[in-house]
Parts: sequence; C-alpha cells; structure tokens
Amino acid sequence: MNNEGKPEIKVLEKSGTHVKLHLKNIPLPLVNAVRRAALEYVPSMAVDFIYFRTNTSVLHDEIIAHRIGLIPLSSEEAIKRYKQPEECKEPEAENDPECYAILMLEAEAGEDEVKTVYSGELRPITDPNVKPVTERVPIVVLGPGQRIELEAYARLGRGVEHIKWSPATVAVSTYVADIRVSKEDCTLCGACVRYCPTGALRIEGGKLVADNDKCTFCRQCVRVCEHDAITLRARPNEYRLYIESSGALKPETIVVEAVKEIIRKLDTLLSRIEGIEEAGG
Ligand code: SF4
Ligand code: SF4
Repeated sequence: MNNEGKPEIKVLEKSGTHVKLHLKNIPLPLVNAVRRAALEYVPSMAVDFIYFRTNTSVLHDEIIAHRIGLIPLSSEEAIKRYKQPEECKEPEAENDPECYAILMLEAEAGEDEVKTVYSGELRPITDPNVKPVTERVPIVVLGPGQRIELEAYARLGRGVEHIKWSPATVAVSTYVADIRVSKEDCTLCGACVRYCPTGALRIEGGKLVADNDKCTFCRQCVRVCEHDAITLRARPNEYRLYIESSGALKPETIVVEAVKEIIRKLDTLLSRIEGIEEAGG
C-alpha cells in the first residue's frame, strides 16, 4: 500500500487510562508493531517472587504469590531508574537495589473477625514510587486469627515473559471507515439504522447520516440493505490505535516506550547485519 505523504498523528481521546490516536500515512505493519510492542515489550514493574514468613490463611503460598504478581505497580519512575529485565536475571540480582524494589505485607484478622486483605496493604519498603496503582484489589480473605506476612520483590519485566509485566491491558489498531450512501438508491427505510450495533447511522434531515468514527466494520448495514445503497470501505493509509493502560504507566508513555523498543530492536538488528558485512568483507 502506498504510504507516501507526511505522517500525521492526531490524539482523538486521552485520559489517565487510555489514549486513542488517528494515524495517517504511517505503514500498517509499523502501527501493528507499536501495538504489539505495547503489549509485549514495554517494561513495567511487577512482583517477581515472594518470601513468605507466615501464611495461616486457607490459600496456598503459590496462589497468593500469583495474585500479588498480577497487581499493577506504578512504574512511571521505575522505567527510568531500574535496570532492564535482561540485566536482573542472575540470583545475585535479588540484592541489587537497581533491579528489585521490595514491598511488605503484614495482615492479621482479629479473633472474631473475617478480614479481606487488599492491595493497599502492600507497603513499599525500598522505593516509595513502586506501589500498587489501586488499593482495592483483593488478595486473600483471612478467617478469625489467621495471619499473613510476606516480602515481595518487584522488578522490571516485559509482557513477552509474563502478562503481569504488560503495562497495556488493551492494544488495538483498526481501519478507519468510509461509509458512502447512494441518495438515488436509499429509500430511508431505516433497516440499517436499526441493525447498526454502535449507533453509527441515523436518519436526519431527510437523509441517512453516517458517523465513521463509531463504525466497527461489522457490515450489518450492508447485509440488511435490500437496495445496495450503502458502501463500506476502509480509508487508505489511515488507522486508529487504541491503548488502554493497567495504570502501571500513563497510556502515552506506553506508546512512546513502544516506539523506543522498536528502535532498540532495529538497532540490534542493524548492528548484527553490520557484523555480518564486516565478517564477510
Ligand atoms: S437499509 Fe439501505 S435503503 Fe434502508 S436506510 Fe439503510 S441504506 Fe437506505
Ligand atoms: S458496518 Fe456495522 S458499525 Fe459500521 S455502520 Fe454498518 S452496521 Fe454500523
């Protein structure tokens, strides 16, 4: 597909948890690479392993460890300060403060109490910036007199290793719709309006009006129109990229870091190729 023309990026929506971009004249494989890098290669903090000191709850250590691992941890500062995951694989890295941040959890139910332990009770010990992004993730329910005490070690990781390290919960790229209606053929019967699941079509001022932004390409309108009055196409060289964050990183940070990860991979590829050339020469 011809992508010649100035690349354009427009922010359609932005909040603390998601960003929606309109991309023009950027090759689709590159848009898809950013999407995949957002899910699999952008590093963020998550609990890697746990030392249990006490656990008299009904749940096994492994189940609690798995739950704690899935709690998103704030990583905006951490991605600038901690070593890359590849540098923290050795056992001795456990004691390296540039690899691991430690969090503590101590909770006990009273003798007549049933207590739910939430992520808010996971306290940062070595780095106040690395903490659960929300306090309301339930971890375990303690029965009367039960106790849990543990030390959790968090490090940077990537979604490709385990999804708990992915800062993006949703990363979607889509085409942009171009809905055309033939005035001659459209009888304004309203069937397409009734069948459209997203409300992208409406009859207004004696004509059928389409909102391209709402279209999901389900093609229901094309199927139900008995007069072939509606044509659905994708606009050439225009795409949407939607990224939703777990809260570990700002959604715009995820996009920027995803692009950096692609550049990093290309740099590695380039240096390997140059190595082949030198060896061959
Ligand atoms: S179903 Fe076809 S004829 Fe009916 S309003 Fe839609 S486009 Fe027009
Ligand atoms: S393709 Fe689906 S979402 Fe788009 S306008 Fe037609 S019915 Fe609505």
